Amino acid sequence: MATTDDSVNGMTESCDSCGIETLHEVSVQIMTEAEDSDNAHYSREPYRVRECQRCGERSSQRMNNA
Ligand SMILES: [Zn+2]
Repeated sequence: MATTDDSVNGMTESCDSCGIETLHEVSVQIMTEAEDSDNAHYSREPYRVRECQRCGERSSQRMNNA
């Protein structure tokens, strides 16, 4: 790693759509999700969001499995 680029947090990960390892832009977002639809209780959870820089496929993964 000779250079570091703070503006783009790029990681090479496998993409389901591409079927190969591609460069992904990875970020963490706080998403509001419905914890229980019956009593409208919402919780905000951190998600790891990655976007394939080849095909644009986005996928998010919940970071803490409560
Ligand atoms: Zn892709």
